[in-house]
Amino acid sequence: MGAIIQVNNLVKKYGDFEAVKGISFEVMEGEIFGLLGPNGAGKTTTLEIIETLREKTSGDVIVDGMNLDKEPQAIKNIIGVQLQAAGYYPNLNLKQIIDLFSGLYNRDVDPLTLLDTVNLRDKAKSKFKELSGGQKQRFSIATTLINEPKIIFLDEPTTGLDPQARRNLWELIIQLRSRGATVVLTTHYMDEAEELCERVAIIDKGEIIALSTPNELIDRLLATGFKRPKEVKAANLEDVFLNMTGREWREG
Ligand code: ATP
Repeated sequence: MGAIIQVNNLVKKYGDFEAVKGISFEVMEGEIFGLLGPNGAGKTTTLEIIETLREKTSGDVIVDGMNLDKEPQAIKNIIGVQLQAAGYYPNLNLKQIIDLFSGLYNRDVDPLTLLDTVNLRDKAKSKFKELSGGQKQRFSIATTLINEPKIIFLDEPTTGLDPQARRNLWELIIQLRSRGATVVLTTHYMDEAEELCERVAIIDKGEIIALSTPNELIDRLLATGFKRPKEVKAANLEDVFLNMTGREWREG
């Protein structure tokens, strides 16, 4: 399959400060693509430019054959963007919020079916503010699906979630991909990137310093003679935690 996102020489300046320094990359149709990098590297800036939410300084962005400069509205129609939790109406219940969004997108969506995809059917009558952190994250992903997007953008989707909730969200992301969507995500969790992403780009100070499959990047490091300090135990504290508390769709 071909590239569904093409970014060419993208530059973003905030005043004199160049946050994104002429980066180029492609995202292939149907892949889960990760943008990794330290705080302030330029990940959110890059994502939000592609999502048509931020102005670029220069460069070209093509999304599903459409030029960002010429057809931003058409691009909006085929993408799903995970909104920050603060953007929701705290006093509406989940069904009401989905109905509201369906109206905005002019789509006929059954709220309960949609809530099923993120295992929140039993919370349909709950207000957004009554959800736990993990439930809020899952709900925010559900809302990105209302317009049946070809591309889904997730900015740190599992930050703040417990280990089991993170794994449940990974499953959801894999399901979205298997239904044909392309997923672009940012994360600070390298285990998550390794588990989910076909390819990752590592951004540092506004530049892409590596772009490949996780496997290839690891092999490249090993080829330099890198050795990890030997692990003494065959399990870690996360294994203990999951073993003691883990269950599907924990409501935490
Ligand atoms: P994080 O991992 O912390 O979310 P990030 O890689 O997403 O970081 P960005 O949010 O894209 O980083 O920020 C990149 C750089 O641009 C940072 O130095 C940031 O301070 C700066 N920046 C971001 N938004 C603005 C803005 N609206 N005005 C001025 N500078 C900004």
